[in-house]
Amino acid sequence: MEASIIVIGDELLIGQVLDTNSGWIARHLNPLGWKIKNVRTVADDSSDIKAAITNAFTETDLVLTTGGLGPTKDDITKQTLLELFGGEMIYDKAVEANVLEVVEKRHLKINPLTANQAYVPSSCRVIQNKVGTAPIMWFEKDGKVLVSMPGVPFETETMMSTEIIPQLVKRFAPSTHIEHRTFVVINYSESVLAMKLDEFEQSIPEFIKLAYLPKPGIIRLRLTGSHTDGSLLTSEMDRLSGNLAAIIGNDIIAFDDMPVEQILGELLKSRHLTLATAESCTGGNIAHEITSISGSSEYFRGTVVAYANDVKQQLLGVDTEILANDGAVSEPTVRAMATGACKAIGTDCAIATSGIAGPGGGSPDKPVGTVWIAAKCADNIVAKKYHFPGSRDRVIDRASTTALIMLIELIRNTK
Ligand code: AMP
Ligand code: MG
Repeated sequence: MEASIIVIGDELLIGQVLDTNSGWIARHLNPLGWKIKNVRTVADDSSDIKAAITNAFTETDLVLTTGGLGPTKDDITKQTLLELFGGEMIYDKAVEANVLEVVEKRHLKINPLTANQAYVPSSCRVIQNKVGTAPIMWFEKDGKVLVSMPGVPFETETMMSTEIIPQLVKRFAPSTHIEHRTFVVINYSESVLAMKLDEFEQSIPEFIKLAYLPKPGIIRLRLTGSHTDGSLLTSEMDRLSGNLAAIIGNDIIAFDDMPVEQILGELLKSRHLTLATAESCTGGNIAHEITSISGSSEYFRGTVVAYANDVKQQLLGVDTEILANDGAVSEPTVRAMATGACKAIGTDCAIATSGIAGPGGGSPDKPVGTVWIAAKCADNIVAKKYHFPGSRDRVIDRASTTALIMLIELIRNTK
């Protein structure tokens, strides 16, 4: 079963707003057996919208659109759908009542523009939008279905979950099963991993595909399969997952699509370990990433953003002699920072960073991008020097991910 998505809005085409609706829809329809054939982004332009819908219907029987349903003049999706599907604009009392309810919940009053939301094409069936004023419209013609939804992600997500997806399942009863399995792999470049998996890839049946999704420091490998026989698909996916795990072994750090900070969190929880960070060049970014995971208070105790040398010395106990002789960006400094963080914050583990994020501040022996990272777990401590390329943001980002991975590896190697 295939579907098309059309996201509508000038703001998407000038890069002012990033399209999150299509990704959300794909993620939620996929497990139910819908393959998204394509995603089109179009302007708030009647002829562009019509062309996109006409083309989409040549490819799939289901087309989902978002956007262009606001009460203002720039939003023209509803009028365009009327022209495409026929009928006339009618004033729908049920929509009016729904708009009133939504507006009152927001402690607002209805105005002529919001009242206009109650006009809908006679050719559609309305699904009342419980969380917004734009009615959702379900059109059906020659066995093909188009559902028009609002641009506001919260509204589309809420209404898809509660109303639209159940109705789509009822209408189409998708018979295809789709499964994804994602593996997070470290210590490989994309090409080296592809060479290692050459034979494995040849053993993959045609209804399963392998994708490489590299990110700084990690590669996500994703197996995606689709088949009408759900149990056959699951057993093939299990078999291939087992083979992949056997080939890559310990370099798989997660069997799910999780960010590195979450993988570390799960590991710390399973080992009942606590964590602190001591950050110079990453300026608290690692602590920010760790605390972006809900439930991180179970293992994360705090950070010292030790940017200045005297902070490294006073709060983390880094020897003034080390700072004077080896410098702030050095192995002895990050080792002392990690040890000092464990002591000062009272944790089993710590991550420490010190480097030159740039663009200024480099020197011939310590060029921009030089970062020392240390990871400590109980009595084990490791430290390594890196040279990260790119802008200040990229250096901070790479250093943060690398530091998290370094601690993951250290903990995994600690019995
Ligand atoms: P509209 O239904 O066109 O009035 O859209 C309302 C708002 O939703 C827009 O101002 C955007 O901020 C947002 N929006 C529209 N389309 C998308 C999309 N595809 N992804 C994320 N946000 C969107
Ligand atoms: Mg719009």
